[in-house]
Amino acid sequence: MPLHDITPLIHSRPLSLAAGREIWLKLEALQPSGSFKIRGIGHACEIHVGRGARRLVASSGGNAGLAVAYAGRRLGVAVTVVVPETTTARAIGLLRQEGAEVVVHGPSWQEANELALSRVGPQDAFLHPFDDPLLWHGHATLIDEIAQSGLRPDAVVLSVGGGGLLSGVAEGMRRNGWDDVPIVAVETGGAASFHAALLAGHPVQLERIDSVATSLGAKRVCDQSVMWAKTRPVLSALVTDRAALAACERFVDDHRVLVEPACGASLALVYDQAAVLEPFGTLLVVVCGGATATMEQIRQWSASAAA
Ligand SMILES: *Cc1c(COP(=O)(O)O)cnc(C)c1O
Repeated sequence: MPLHDITPLIHSRPLSLAAGREIWLKLEALQPSGSFKIRGIGHACEIHVGRGARRLVASSGGNAGLAVAYAGRRLGVAVTVVVPETTTARAIGLLRQEGAEVVVHGPSWQEANELALSRVGPQDAFLHPFDDPLLWHGHATLIDEIAQSGLRPDAVVLSVGGGGLLSGVAEGMRRNGWDDVPIVAVETGGAASFHAALLAGHPVQLERIDSVATSLGAKRVCDQSVMWAKTRPVLSALVTDRAALAACERFVDDHRVLVEPACGASLALVYDQAAVLEPFGTLLVVVCGGATATMEQIRQWSASAAA
């Protein structure tokens, strides 16, 4: 039994009216860990534990860490998550709620990750948040479910952080014969590492991340995501933090589901009728979710967001 759920695929009347085209939503926000990440991470954790791992180690204070914590609890193994000092009390609380040991260390993810890696013993498995073929295989099930429903959209809209979701979705599209269906890869302007990679023709390291969409904050995308962009149609799109936040608020009103700005970025493209969507009559939007934001925080960010 996989650790992820089969999520609802719904036609959205309000987003279809806003976008002037048919919008279908894959509701990954309803996964038990709050995001799509449990698909890939659950798959990877099952394999590691099947091979004898006694403990799972991660260095993400976000949805990847939450997915590892959830998977560990379900599989009955210990989980240690090392997070930087910048991690919110809410995220730490969610990790502890899943029974994970949380170690707070260092000013940024870099230092937390180094400590996590130094603590990986012979009986442990380390889970990377996006750069791992096991994750991509698991994420690909998202497309299997849509294909089984009979829907074949004209394009798939998704958010990109480190490119794990994109790599898994592209893999799922390949095995379902959707190689001709474009992927629209959305980032906020302050976290545009995939956009930069496409311009350069290879992954590049951003100097810094400056966005409220913290789950998109990978400074460098994985090689695999750029490989896909060279072998299938992938379009890059950017939105502002303000637009991503507005989309989160509007989506709560429209569908009664709260998502992180990382997910709001994809929704913003649809709500704002972005020109990149013009050729497509029917769109599938991956509502990737995110468990770390609250309505209060989204309103606070909105109040202080610049353009
Ligand atoms: C992880 C995450 C992303 C980005 O996924 P990548 O695999 O890093 O590209 C987007 N949205 C949410 C809510 C996430 O948790």
